[in-house]
Amino acid sequence: MAEKSYAVIGLGRFGSSVVNHLHKAGYEVMAVDENEERVQEHVEAATHAVQADSTDEQALRDVGIGNFDVVVVAIGVDIQASILTTLLLKELGVKRIVAKAQNPRHGQVLYKVGADRVVFPERDMGIRVAHNLVSPNVLDFIELSPDYGVAEVAVSEKMQGKSLVELNVRAQFGVNVVAIKTNNDFNIAPGPEVLLQEGDILIVVGHNDDLRRFEEEM
Ligand code: ATP
Repeated sequence: MAEKSYAVIGLGRFGSSVVNHLHKAGYEVMAVDENEERVQEHVEAATHAVQADSTDEQALRDVGIGNFDVVVVAIGVDIQASILTTLLLKELGVKRIVAKAQNPRHGQVLYKVGADRVVFPERDMGIRVAHNLVSPNVLDFIELSPDYGVAEVAVSEKMQGKSLVELNVRAQFGVNVVAIKTNNDFNIAPGPEVLLQEGDILIVVGHNDDLRRFEEEM
């Protein structure tokens, strides 16, 4: 399969981070912003960096936006520009549009005008930090849906030297330990008899309420 090509519109902190990561990973990525200074800052970090107003249909055509497999709309503050851009991208036949939303209403509108995926970076980061604040053992948390998530949980003193079957996590909390990370090794699908050690990290999937209980009580 040919490698995908990406375009990122809006080079604020979020868009810039997406551009940098894709470029470092070896993908073709075009960085677009209406602000020339922002464009200049990305000349090295992108395959192409171009100045264009993404609410101008002709400008989008001129940069060949329809040729990219995935376009990321990373405009935040100017909600109107983010919505109009998404709509134009859809009309120009972009196959996959990923858009950043400021809030749930903004997100709903983005879906309505054609976004294939909407991301809420500030909200998601807030959730991750909050999980870690409530329980310092929680190293990371990713929401899979409003109800389900995946947590990365450091093995607590209470868990050390015990096996998953002894801890009875599934029956007690209704969550599943899908992997155990020891140093840099991943044990995926760990057996119930594996003894947990200090420094191990559990990757746990479950309902958010169950995960919260697990995080608090373990
Ligand atoms: P972050 O939180 O990621 O830093 P933000 O949510 O504050 O970003 P903005 O600063 O609103 O996002 O926008 C990000 C970038 O999008 C800015 O560099 C801005 O110049 C650019 N931008 C805004 N409107 C347009 C537009 N119509 N066309 C192209 N770029 C745009």
